[in-house]
Order: sequence, then structure tokens, then C-alpha cells
Amino acid sequence: MIDFQGVLVAINEAANNEKEKGKSADYIPELAKVDLNNFGIHLIDIQQKNFSAGNSDERFSIQSISKVLSLSMALSLIGENVWERVDVEPSGDPFNHLSLLELENGIPRNPLINPGAIVIADILVSQLKNPKEDFLAFVRNIANDDTIAYDLDVAKSEKRTGFRNFAAANLLKSYGNLNNDVDVVLDFYFHQCSLSMSCAQLTSTFFLFINHGKCKRNNIFLTKPQVKRINALMLTCGFYDESGEFAFEVGLPGKSGVGGGIVALLPNKFCVATWSPGLNKKGNSKLGMLALEKLTTETELSIF
Ligand code: GLN
Repeated sequence: MIDFQGVLVAINEAANNEKEKGKSADYIPELAKVDLNNFGIHLIDIQQKNFSAGNSDERFSIQSISKVLSLSMALSLIGENVWERVDVEPSGDPFNHLSLLELENGIPRNPLINPGAIVIADILVSQLKNPKEDFLAFVRNIANDDTIAYDLDVAKSEKRTGFRNFAAANLLKSYGNLNNDVDVVLDFYFHQCSLSMSCAQLTSTFFLFINHGKCKRNNIFLTKPQVKRINALMLTCGFYDESGEFAFEVGLPGKSGVGGGIVALLPNKFCVATWSPGLNKKGNSKLGMLALEKLTTETELSIF
């Protein structure tokens, strides 16, 4: 039996002792207010046993981690048609880069970079009657937790400074890969990114990716092939131009957000979430990456 609790406590201690904590995502002013000393980690295993250390119940802005959830909803609504509008290749570029969009005629490289997630947001805006309400209900339903909510201050803050996302959406529109108004799609996108959740809530939500598409109550949200594809995308694209490094150091599919959260998982075994708001140069949580490297090295549990 692996002593997950012991490993998490040691990871938390190491994180607290680390002097260099990275830098907050100050391009979204509301995120710059978060205390860099926060660190939390939560792990749920396939038997639904929970282990945690640090501020694992404190909520933070999940940002790009939400891209996995919006993709899941789009796949559950229109299935494989999603891939007509977005590709499945790693970009090797930062999350907010636009150059490949120009080179590749408005088809984003994958749904986990910003332009790809904006296309997915457009699909949801077209498909849903009340996009923001319906997406929130979808996430709450998976997690079985009605306290999950948008952080409206964060959404507003990003709307004021989201110039690159406006540029991406306009470029998509010019190539005919955005059906709705730029403002409407981005309003939805900024809200989905503002979802506020704790490490514990993230692992409850992402449990379905270790459990063949079934949530903790065993309700089916995704098919097995859909889960296989989403996990593959998390492995190859979940950390932008640091996806190779994350696979190399940690060896798990995962997804980061500029709020400092990371979710990673080993199918059939466990799902883990970390939160440390300081980011490295590639926009991924500095201490979160170190923590997950320790976890998979010490437990010898990774997909490799
Ligand atoms: N909302 C952020 C943005 O669009 C998400 C980026 C991220 O978490 N990497 O810039």
C-alpha cells in the first residue's frame, strides 16, 4: 500500500520551504492579488479515498483547466464534429500565440491553447440555450457540488485586459471559424476561465477521466473513446510549450491554468490537483510542477 498521505505531507513541507515561488499571472489584474505563499494538494484514488495537505480546500481561479471541461461538454453534444474546427497536435507555442492561426488558416492546433478553446466556446454558445448557466450546471453535475461558481471579478478583470484573446477571436472570425459574435463568445470564455474551485473539488470533477467517463456517483458523462482522446490531449498539449517537459518530469496527462492550478491523473489509479499561484516562464505553476514530479518519482506511479 502506498502511503499517499505521507507523500503529500512531505510535498507540502518542501513547497513551503521553497524560496523561489514564481510569479503571479498579473496580466489578469485580479489574479495578481493572490498570495504567492498558498500551496495545496489533494489526491483521490480510484476507490474514492481522499488525501490532502496544505490549502487543499481553498478556492482559486481554475483558468485554462476549464478548457478540458468545455471540450468535454462540446464532445458530449456534437461528438467527433468538434475535430472539423480544431486540430489535435501540440503547438510548441505559448498558450496565447497567434502565429500558427495565420499559417494554418484559422484552424487552431488543439483545443487546449486559447484559440482552440475559443472555438470550443463558440460551439457551446451555438449549442446551449443559456451557455453560462448550462456550462456551470454541467460542471456542478459532474462534481455533484452546487457550490462551484464563477468568480465574476476575475471574469470582468480578464475582459478588460484580454486583448490577445480579442485578437485571436477576431482572427478566427476572419477565417470563418467563429459563428457567433466575438463579444458573446469571449464573454462565455472569460466566465468559464473564472470558475473558482479548490484542489479537492478539481479532483472530484476530474475523477471521470480516471474512471472511463463515469463520475464519482457512476453516472456516465463521456464515452470511453472520448476519455481516451481527452487524456491524450492533456498529455500532449496540456502545458503548452512545456508539455514535453511535464511528460518528461511527471509522466502523467494533466492540465494547468494561470491561476496556479494543475490537475494530473493516472487512469484507473488516481487523480491529483495542486495549487500554487506562482508561475514559471511558460505560465505553468512552478511549485505545482515540482510537487507532481516528486509524487510520481516517490510513488513510482506514472503512465510510463
Ligand atoms: N483566461 C486565460 C487566458 O485566456 C487562460 C490562460 C491559461 O490559464 N493558461 O489568457
